[in-house]
Amino acid sequence: MKPDSRHVDRSRARPRRTRSAAEYVDGILAVDRAVLGQAITLIESRNPEDAEAALEVVERLLPHTGRSLRTGVTGMPGAGKSTFLEALGLHLIRDRGETVAVLAIDPSSELSRGSILGDKTRMQGLASDERAFIRPSPSSGSLGGVARRTREAMLLCEAAGFRNIFVETVGVGQSETAVRGMVDFFLLLTIPGAGDELQGMKRGILEMADLIAINKADGDNVRRAERARRELESALHFFPAPPHGWPPRVMTCSALKGTAIAEIGAAISEYGAAMGASGWFEEQRRRQAVRWMHDAIEEALRERFHADARVRRELPKLEEEVLAGRLTPFRAARRVLGD
Ligand code: GDP
Repeated sequence: MKPDSRHVDRSRARPRRTRSAAEYVDGILAVDRAVLGQAITLIESRNPEDAEAALEVVERLLPHTGRSLRTGVTGMPGAGKSTFLEALGLHLIRDRGETVAVLAIDPSSELSRGSILGDKTRMQGLASDERAFIRPSPSSGSLGGVARRTREAMLLCEAAGFRNIFVETVGVGQSETAVRGMVDFFLLLTIPGAGDELQGMKRGILEMADLIAINKADGDNVRRAERARRELESALHFFPAPPHGWPPRVMTCSALKGTAIAEIGAAISEYGAAMGASGWFEEQRRRQAVRWMHDAIEEALRERFHADARVRRELPKLEEEVLAGRLTPFRAARRVLGD
């Protein structure tokens, strides 16, 4: 994809203040990264007053979205996701003159009150390059809420002209499915020793992957990585052919040494070109839009429910009743729902 000329001449960040929807829109279209960051903060806000402005910003920018390649990257903690995204991102920027945005989804943060993805000094080279934009995960919320905010952040990044959007997620939970539902291409990053890992790895994740990259194929690991690649390839033979007709690839790489990073970048853009030509992209994105709508409905229902004065009054009492064993959870649920 061609670099966007707007990225060369970037307007300076303005001091933070409350902006109108039009100002956010103008700032994003002018590739003002500070405004882009603030607009994402607006989207993440749980203040009901911000919701309307956020919707307006997203809607006004919609005509400027869609012209990117959206890639999901998942893998266990420690598989090398940040190192890999730093290497691939810098390759795309420096060798191919492209622009890169990285958004992270970290469903662990609410539970652990700390973040698997957020608290490291991550992707420093990318972070300091003006052709890149990195945004850590919203720090709280249900997975549905986090997913919605990530989708909208993705649209804002597209409107700002970022041509490669990476959505990173930790492969420990439900979030891969949510990410698969918002991207064009899904990359699973794993490490050698995958023989054992394959047993534990959820088949579902393998089935979702368009490319499996076995990372850390360097030093003593090269041979093990190659073996893991062969094992994965033969395992994939037993999977049904994907509907788009692009069989998943298994490649080895070293994010640390930069080995095979360009090849993986090439595989992603090859996929992008093929799926654009076949119409699969359009079809997949239209189906995804329907799913986004359902997710938005569910999230709005959940928020309305919890904002309701009666619910807020009743819920703590019902919790006590259930805790004390005086009421079954099902009866309590029906009662609070007014059934
Ligand atoms: P994440 O948790 O998946 O984001 O993983 P990180 O990118 O933080 O990497 C975890 C550790 O693995 C770090 O110590 C990295 O330096 C190391 N690492 C990442 N990629 C490679 C690689 O290709 N080869 C080797 N040998 N180590 C790597």
